Amino acid sequence: MKPRKSHIFITFPIFFTLVFLPACTKKEALPSRTEMIFGTVCTINLFESGTEQLYGTLFARLRALEDTLSANIGTSEISRINDAAGQNPVQVSAETLFVLTEAEKYARLTGGAFDPTIGPLVKLWDIGGDHPHLPTQAEIDAVLPLINYEDMVIDSAAGTVFLKKAGMKLDVGGIAKGYAADEMVRIMREQNVPRALIDLGGNIYALGDKAKGTPWRIGIKDPFNPLSGPAVRLDVTDKTVVTSGVYERFFDRGGVHYHHIFDPQTGYPVWNQLMSATVITPSSTAADALSTALFVMGHEKGIPFAETLPDIEAVFITEAHDIYATPGIRPDMTILAEEFELID
Ligand code: ADP
Ligand code: MG
Repeated sequence: MKPRKSHIFITFPIFFTLVFLPACTKKEALPSRTEMIFGTVCTINLFESGTEQLYGTLFARLRALEDTLSANIGTSEISRINDAAGQNPVQVSAETLFVLTEAEKYARLTGGAFDPTIGPLVKLWDIGGDHPHLPTQAEIDAVLPLINYEDMVIDSAAGTVFLKKAGMKLDVGGIAKGYAADEMVRIMREQNVPRALIDLGGNIYALGDKAKGTPWRIGIKDPFNPLSGPAVRLDVTDKTVVTSGVYERFFDRGGVHYHHIFDPQTGYPVWNQLMSATVITPSSTAADALSTALFVMGHEKGIPFAETLPDIEAVFITEAHDIYATPGIRPDMTILAEEFELID
């Protein structure tokens, strides 16, 4: 009996290896996957790590984040906080608390240039929405007192968020895609994915390197022709590249271009001769909030401000086709279109 038993146990693994191993190694990685999430086109390319299971996990996570953080979904945690504004604190998940704590941090850091309580203005203008509206000054004056991140009370011990004034509304559209990109990277690192490209509506994360020792080449869109080739090329490894621009969501009325980044002080889309502001750094949450904030600040304040922040690089493109960039990114930057000029 004994010899026979051992015979089976030795031959079975050999048989298994011979039959199944060639089939496994031949299996091709899946190509990139694209879905509409966060109201925009989200594409992930896992390259050699592209399996049905991992793509499934990542996109399910993105959809769950949208369900939690979208101000346009009535049942989201953000909407529940908004519905209770001026009434009572609302219990939310640790994840929403984290995103709002980050949002508050960047609001403070940028002196309110980034403000997650921008919701009433986003709703009033509805830029890029179904009913875009050019508000009167009276309509703007009515909502301006509701825009103030200091009236958002986060109680991390109790796990609640409270908006002090009735009518206040959170909108984390300026930071949520960054957080989502960081989540994608966290899951990928857990799964030992060596390289990937994540593009959540222009919020890009280049994980790892393109090949051993070769950086990724990431384009900054030509803000005058966003559908044509990029204006600038950045060579990056293991970093996020996030751009806030006037060309993403807008409407044109009476020869005026109204876009979706608001000055929380005036209640109007920011007008400071900037076409786009790009942030390059390892944290996509930081890059998303700061690209919006730097756009609001403008390049004259934005460049010296970015230089005070550790590991934050920034590139601004102006209406005059001038490019301003922090010193740290200049060696990795190539201007691709001749009408643009780097200003010292
Ligand atoms: P995109 O959504 O095109 O990637 P941004 O990251 O700059 O661009 O985010 C713009 C969005 O952020 C707007 O659609 C709005 O939801 C919100 N927002 C607009 N102005 C501000 C602001 N000053 N502070 C914070 N969020 C803002
Ligand atoms: Mg942003």
